[in-house]
Amino acid sequence: MDWKNLPGSGGGLQDRRGSGGVPGGGLAVGGIGGLVIALIAMFFGIDPSVILGGGQTTQTQTQTQSGAPADTSSDEANEFLDKILGSTNEVWGKVFQQSGRTYTKPTLIRYSGGTTSGCGQATSAVGPFYCPLDNGIYIDTEFFQTMQSRLGGGGDFAYSYVVAHEVGHHVQNELGIADQVERKQRAARTEAEQNSYGVRLELQADCFAGVWGSSIRAQANITDADIQEALQTAQAIGDDNLQRQSRGYVVPDSFTHGTSEQRMRWFKTGYTTGDPNKCDTFNLAYNQL
Ligand SMILES: [Zn+2]
Repeated sequence: MDWKNLPGSGGGLQDRRGSGGVPGGGLAVGGIGGLVIALIAMFFGIDPSVILGGGQTTQTQTQTQSGAPADTSSDEANEFLDKILGSTNEVWGKVFQQSGRTYTKPTLIRYSGGTTSGCGQATSAVGPFYCPLDNGIYIDTEFFQTMQSRLGGGGDFAYSYVVAHEVGHHVQNELGIADQVERKQRAARTEAEQNSYGVRLELQADCFAGVWGSSIRAQANITDADIQEALQTAQAIGDDNLQRQSRGYVVPDSFTHGTSEQRMRWFKTGYTTGDPNKCDTFNLAYNQL
């Protein structure tokens, strides 16, 4: 992947490292902020956070390749994030324009340890997430190291996929899909039904990430190996896989993000079609997702 070919975001990236850190950062989120984050997680998917839960230690090994975007000490990671954000702005700006809408660009906030978001206090333990209240995508790039050391899926395209997935949640927010889903979730009678809407949202965000990937294919020279990286990540962060890792068994009712197979398939759907209209995960029967 030649991410340097991509356009920058023109100021959409905020680097908050070294400010507003939470003492003892890395601990689970607590208090009211934690509650807000948990609710947002339910609706919008703080995806890979599940990995960090399940009673496992949040200690990560550092196996950073020097100069790789995962190297949090490197300023190159800022350039990388800025370019990924810039390319999503371009792709979604065009899609919105084509249907007579205006795309509001999200802000990408890079932090370390902890920071304050419009959705409450965040720590690295929650993983990357999107806050619809301030249009912010929050990411501690330490997470990239976690991907590399514990999820068996590092690489620049894999990291881009994580960002593009969160941007997908922003797109859902912009389109009003997130609001509709939230209403349906509130009206849901069972937890399983509530979760099923979450799964649809998550799979759609994966598909949107695929649409982004498709749009930058030529410009960033995306190869099959890059796609494999993204698929490997999608596979690793499928709920079934995470549950197996943290509990040793799978509980389908508690799925909120979709299985590994579903996540890979919806990413591919977006990538092969390049068409966001093919990402309609809401008009299929649940067992056909
Ligand atoms: Zn998500």
